[in-house]
Amino acid sequence: MDIYGMTLTQLETYFENINEKKFKASQVYDWLYKKRITSFEDMSNIKKEIIDKLKEDYKITFPKLILRQDGKGVYKYLFELSDKSNVEAVVMIHDYGISLCLSTQVGCNMGCAFCESGRRKKKRSLTPGEMVSQILLIEKDLDKRISHIVLMGIGEPFDNYDNVMTFIRIINDGKGIDIGARHITVSTCGIVPKIRQFAG
Ligand code: SF4
Repeated sequence: MDIYGMTLTQLETYFENINEKKFKASQVYDWLYKKRITSFEDMSNIKKEIIDKLKEDYKITFPKLILRQDGKGVYKYLFELSDKSNVEAVVMIHDYGISLCLSTQVGCNMGCAFCESGRRKKKRSLTPGEMVSQILLIEKDLDKRISHIVLMGIGEPFDNYDNVMTFIRIINDGKGIDIGARHITVSTCGIVPKIRQFAG
């Protein structure tokens, strides 16, 4: 399992289960989402035994950025995931900030008539880590902070509900990526039970 994509609560439970102090979870969480490490060894205040245990139980992988197309105030990204599937993300520069439209699935089963992604049936849903990685990689590539997230790329977010909610918790967490709730937009083609669940 990829360690990017873990919430603070999930990391705290993990540390409790391996009989380590809960505060270590906060330290690891900070290394991941604030300092954005790419190797477990980069966590300089974490003792070697814990790093070895983390390496045993988790991995750090990122999608591969394979293409960027630039337009006027728009950057379109193509990523290759670990199973060689492709997803896209689009950055739009606005006067109020920088918004990133992310993919939540590889392909989509909703079949909206106007949509090319809908013609490619769903291959699988993205993990929380694969969604978080799109933000981290693009912020690094542009050397700018993304201020707004829109889940309106490939896929129906409410057909990947649990992973999308985990992703939102991580990016909304002030100790994590820290994007305000009012700056996160979830788009849906209209899955009513999930809209009700989300509203709740
Ligand atoms: S839900 Fe979105 S991605 Fe899926 S077919 Fe409709 S418009 Fe396309």
